[in-house]
Amino acid sequence: MNLNKREKEKRQIRYSDAKKIAEQGDKVRSRTWQLPGNFEEYKLENGKHVVDVVPYVVGKGNPKADEGMVHYERRYYIHSNVGPNQEKVICPAQTFGDSCPICEEMARQTRRGVDWEKRKWMRPQMRQLWNLRSKEDGIIRVFEQAYYRGLGEMIDDQINSDEQEDGKEELSNFFKLENGKSLKLFAKEENFKGFTYAKLVQVDFIERKEPLSEDILDEVCCLDDCLVCQSYDQIKKLFGQGESPDEVVEPENTSDTTSSNHFDEDNDTQSSNNSEFKVGDVVDYEGTRCTVTKIQEDSLTLKDSEGGFHKWVEFSDVEKVDSDEEVPETSQR
Ligand SMILES: [Zn+2]
Repeated sequence: MNLNKREKEKRQIRYSDAKKIAEQGDKVRSRTWQLPGNFEEYKLENGKHVVDVVPYVVGKGNPKADEGMVHYERRYYIHSNVGPNQEKVICPAQTFGDSCPICEEMARQTRRGVDWEKRKWMRPQMRQLWNLRSKEDGIIRVFEQAYYRGLGEMIDDQINSDEQEDGKEELSNFFKLENGKSLKLFAKEENFKGFTYAKLVQVDFIERKEPLSEDILDEVCCLDDCLVCQSYDQIKKLFGQGESPDEVVEPENTSDTTSSNHFDEDNDTQSSNNSEFKVGDVVDYEGTRCTVTKIQEDSLTLKDSEGGFHKWVEFSDVEKVDSDEEVPETSQR
């Protein structure tokens, strides 16, 4: 591309951030959210810490407040343990009302009467983003946490019990610039599968004498801009590459009958009750030419020409392709 001198002078160079990259090291960054601009993450530390929940002017898609309103959190939903690296992905259905291949798969399994214990790992879980201003250094940082047993649920519980007891709605003003509250967070060291982390155990509302300045609305992060959602096809592909994490996520589940080889495409079946299909068969599934890679008792695992896997496909949803036209159409183009 030939740019003349004037155009070259106008070009804005945007550098990547080596400091941030160095800090992250080889950690795989969550695929569900990111920090825009120069915002830092609020990391919970053991002990007591006083913070203000700083409200922000809502951007696009917040399910609890219209664009332009001043609100205090951004909730979203994730699926965990997706793909070979057991990643988290945003659930587009629960978060944005779009189609989600994992929710669709869960619905298919529900219709087929698959046991909840075997499909519950796919359920979407709610998480939240917050702007927290530390009383210690005055810096506003973005905090991300699961709703249940987290800051979100603890705040809701207190607001609910407050209203029930004396009819006042004082606590529900906690995030407002005037008459708001500060929060005292208490976190304790907790062990989980060999690593330790600071677990939030208590949240108390405390008086905040000084109101927050209106200018702070220009300084906070627009939490709606933090979410990173992959496309339907990206999630479907990633989902198809993984295995059931039945045994990984539920340490108490030691039953051999829930073995993850139910989903293992390399584990050739010997116990198929269905003689119609065999591994290697070419079939049509939802308009796509696929190869059968595994046969379960009541469903098939298929691989399409782009390498994506389709799991738990019912026999009635596929049509066998005659052997004399077994070359997948897509591979010829
Ligand atoms: Zn979903």
